[in-house]
Amino acid sequence: MKEKIQMVDLHGQYMRIKAEIDTAIQQVLDETVFINGPQVGLFAAHMQTYLGCNYVIPCANGTDALQIALMSLDLEEGDEVIIPAFTYAATAEVIALLKLKPVMVDVNEHNFNLDLDELTAHITPRTRAIVPVHLFGQGSDMGGIMEIAQKHGLYVVEDNAQALGADWFGKEGRQAKLGTIGHIGCTSFFPSKNLGCYGDGGAIMTNDATLAAKIKMIANHGQSKKYHHELIGCNSRLDTLQAAILDVKLKYLDEYAQKRNDVAAYYDHSLAGIDGIQIPARVSYSNHVFHQYTLRIEADKRDALKDHLQHAGIPSMIYYPIPLYRQQAYRVFTEGDLSLGITELLCREVLSLPVHTEMEEAQLDYISSAVKQFFS
Ligand SMILES: *Cc1c(COP(=O)(O)O)cnc(C)c1O
Repeated sequence: MKEKIQMVDLHGQYMRIKAEIDTAIQQVLDETVFINGPQVGLFAAHMQTYLGCNYVIPCANGTDALQIALMSLDLEEGDEVIIPAFTYAATAEVIALLKLKPVMVDVNEHNFNLDLDELTAHITPRTRAIVPVHLFGQGSDMGGIMEIAQKHGLYVVEDNAQALGADWFGKEGRQAKLGTIGHIGCTSFFPSKNLGCYGDGGAIMTNDATLAAKIKMIANHGQSKKYHHELIGCNSRLDTLQAAILDVKLKYLDEYAQKRNDVAAYYDHSLAGIDGIQIPARVSYSNHVFHQYTLRIEADKRDALKDHLQHAGIPSMIYYPIPLYRQQAYRVFTEGDLSLGITELLCREVLSLPVHTEMEEAQLDYISSAVKQFFS
């Protein structure tokens, strides 16, 4: 093996497109329009084309994207927003910051995304929105979620920080990119995300002209005309350097997804059928872009396997070790001691193996062998 095994290899990925990236960065330096330079608009336009959606509004990071999306919906203090309990804290954080109530519900044990029966069971007269998270790179059941939302008059804001580029397949041959199906979609360009920049970045997607205009204003201090502030907004921008970098990398996003799928297929092939391991499930309504390759390991063996891999020089990660409702900050949002069966189970069983665009077959072979050895 040439390289040390890493969860992500940002340096290797950079080296393959160094000439193009360096040229793009140099151009920004030469033009010195560091805020709202032409590259920002260009990148947004290219994203719109790629995603097939009407409006892409870049912003400073994925957490801001979620916050701005929710701010645009005119929700009132105490309104309830349903989210999966098995997700990253950012999803709940922005809801709480806006004085809304995050309602954490259980997920599907096979695909780790919102369980639609649980979702329906938690809708109350105060429910105003649902934030499905397309966890690890695969879509939630957006057909079912949109039906439920329509029936109850709820907004849907997709947290697509982990599944940018993945497709959703609906009824009667309908197809769309994840993040463009709900009223608003949000994504992150954090360096390790599938489309990562070289710092922080994010974007908000919508097909609704009214929402798009409002979102643009909110991200820009609530103004559509300079010094005329119609709304309380915030300051959330994608800077020009990041936009220039992302515009180069967007061209490679599908190739990156293919590479991640090749890695997943290798792991699947080597690890399927081993007693004590469940390989990631695939669903019919979405493809997978493998932001993470996440196994379920028989509960009492997961931590020992992690140690075993560590000793062999193989990193692995537990996304996520603690349910949101057990986090100190979010306990106030639950009545009594909440314990959701599947979320609890997954927190004990999940283990993510390295998956990135630069992985070599020798590394995959080494990792798979180490896992197999543990179970033999
Ligand atoms: C990364 C991530 C975010 C936040 O994105 P940042 O750009 O780091 O703010 C939100 N939700 C999920 C599910 C994420 O994975």
